[in-house]
Amino acid sequence: MAIKGRIIVNTGDGKGKTTAALGTAFRALGYGMKVCVIQFLKGQGNFGERLMASKIDNLEWHICGKGFVFNKENIEEDREVAKTGFALAEEKVSSDKYDLIILDELTYLPHYNFLNVEKIVSLLQHKPERLSIIITGRNAAPEITEIADTVSVIKAEKHAFKSGIKAQKGIEF
Ligand code: ATP
Ligand code: MG
Repeated sequence: MAIKGRIIVNTGDGKGKTTAALGTAFRALGYGMKVCVIQFLKGQGNFGERLMASKIDNLEWHICGKGFVFNKENIEEDREVAKTGFALAEEKVSSDKYDLIILDELTYLPHYNFLNVEKIVSLLQHKPERLSIIITGRNAAPEITEIADTVSVIKAEKHAFKSGIKAQKGIEF
């Protein structure tokens, strides 16, 4: 029987959206499946997962963001980066070369009006049958969660950061 890929959304204000997506990548890679990760709106810094990614076969990793989206001075630059990143996502999805594509922090593009949500809906509707797509980020638009197969809203009941504990290497980045 043909494989039917899933559309999965990890959203909410709690910790675990990106790491849960990467856990799924780990699982797929174990079977020799091909995985592509595209990270939106994140800086170029060293994150443990990026350092690890370069050592894994069958895993492709693209970083599309730079700087912070919250800096109003660079908003036009951010918009361009977001557009280029989404064009890459469209290319990767339609290539039909992957079993799993993770669009990390994609939810912020429509949230900050960098991209019309209909473009994401269309991307999901026209994906190859076998391809699974995981979208992460807070404030997932209802248009996206509506067509997803699986939606997890991770709630922050507590986070160490709020009690003044700094982000920790290997845990938060
Ligand atoms: P992770 O990458 O750890 O799975 P995430 O993808 O759920 O986190 P993001 O909003 O993408 O959450 O997180 C950006 C950074 O902030 C990460 O280092 C993450 O561990 C941390 N973080 C996540 N949730 C919270 C929170 N509620 N308060 C403070 N920091 C958080
Ligand atoms: Mg994240």
